[in-house]
Amino acid sequence: MAATSMDQLVSLCKRRGFIFQNADIYGGLQGVYDYGPLGVELKNNLKAAWWRAMVYERDDVEGLDAAILTNQKVLHYSGHEDTFSDPMTDCRKCKGRFRADHIKDGKCPNCGSTDLTEPRPFNLMFKTAIGPVDDGSSFGYLRPETAQAIFTQFKNVVDSTSRKLPFGIAQIGKSFRNEITPRNFIFRVREFEQAELEYFVAPGEDEKWHEIWKEERIKWWEEQGLKRENINIYTTPKDDLAHYAKACYDIEYQFPHGMEELEGIANRTDYDLGNHTKAQDEMNLTSHCHANSDSTQKLCIMDDSNKWVVPFVIEPSMGVDRGVLAVMTEAYTEEDLGEGNSRIVLKLKKHLAPIKVAVIPLKKNNEQIMAKCHEIKKNLLKLGIGRVALENTGNIGKAYRRHDEIGTPICITVDFETIEQQPESVTIRDRDTMEQHRVNIADLAAYLRDYFLA
Ligand code: ATP
Repeated sequence: MAATSMDQLVSLCKRRGFIFQNADIYGGLQGVYDYGPLGVELKNNLKAAWWRAMVYERDDVEGLDAAILTNQKVLHYSGHEDTFSDPMTDCRKCKGRFRADHIKDGKCPNCGSTDLTEPRPFNLMFKTAIGPVDDGSSFGYLRPETAQAIFTQFKNVVDSTSRKLPFGIAQIGKSFRNEITPRNFIFRVREFEQAELEYFVAPGEDEKWHEIWKEERIKWWEEQGLKRENINIYTTPKDDLAHYAKACYDIEYQFPHGMEELEGIANRTDYDLGNHTKAQDEMNLTSHCHANSDSTQKLCIMDDSNKWVVPFVIEPSMGVDRGVLAVMTEAYTEEDLGEGNSRIVLKLKKHLAPIKVAVIPLKKNNEQIMAKCHEIKKNLLKLGIGRVALENTGNIGKAYRRHDEIGTPICITVDFETIEQQPESVTIRDRDTMEQHRVNIADLAAYLRDYFLA
């Protein structure tokens, strides 16, 4: 088990404004959470780090931002209408409903009763009426994964960018699954965010790329602060694979509630592009596809020998919310400072910290000191390092404690020396070492540029 408990994280998230239960004032909506003032920053930073690694730092990936509302035909031909379900069991005694694979020793996880119904399939997709008349004939779904729009837009992306294999399409966005038992805070929820890359390769090259992406993604998670010893690679047994996959690695992380999936890296073969393709028999597919009488396109690309092929696809798919939970679990630290003192520090990697720099006046509401604080903040924002926050609480000790807890790497204190002595200088305090030293204001921008951007 991880050293950090779920209770510690949930308490910090509420106390400091990272994550709140949705519709809290009405008793909540199960499996749905809202990100507060600091949570939105942390989540955005994690997504930006992913986008940077997947799109900006590579020369073989394009981005996409597709709609959440999904045409029924897309999820029909993708196989989700028929197969995207979990077996569900009801407890006749307490009326609880559970995923059959979460039942241990034939006992209800809630009340321990053995009076359970036989498992039956429960489709996880949210169906919704589209248009003004709700007569059941016009409906769609909230997407259960972001991937399908990448497949259905495959041809438009290829035609507009002239891409050749191998190349990828990356997307970050909301997905929805009507989970039977949402639980473990933001780990298993009904509305969540995914960051997915569909990396298209020539048939036959798929197994090589599956291994490459597994290594790439482990490395990336380590760069987000996760220790390798807290990561496990699980190879999904053939019988447990999703309906579209030939092979799958799960990157698992030691969450407070146990070692569980953080990201899936699946070899989806030519299954999806094949299923969305018209005249499949002309395309030499390896997957068993449903005949498609609705698609107007062949989702294929010209290979090196000028032959049309339906590519295979490797899909690293991370849960952004599970990512937030993982980096917080890893960063949460309680430190004994001796003499009965302790502190909570969120030792987030600096690129993930919700607030990069806190500018703190020594004295509350002092006009000269505040003017200097505003000036410093304005200049630091120009560096593009992220959020710089101005504190006007007048209690330095309290401000340091708050910023340790929310993971702010640097605090800058503006005091009377700053405004009275030349050259103007400030105190800089480091979150992890708590060391303080003086830096001239003239050198501040260069100092922080080096610290955050080097
Ligand atoms: P699980 O087995 O935990 O239900 P999955 O194998 O169905 O997950 P995928 O379909 O592979 O998940 O989705 C890719 C990623 O999306 C997962 O690795 C996870 O991080 C995230 N994810 C999936 N379902 C949820 C959920 N209900 N809540 C939060 N994140 C989720």
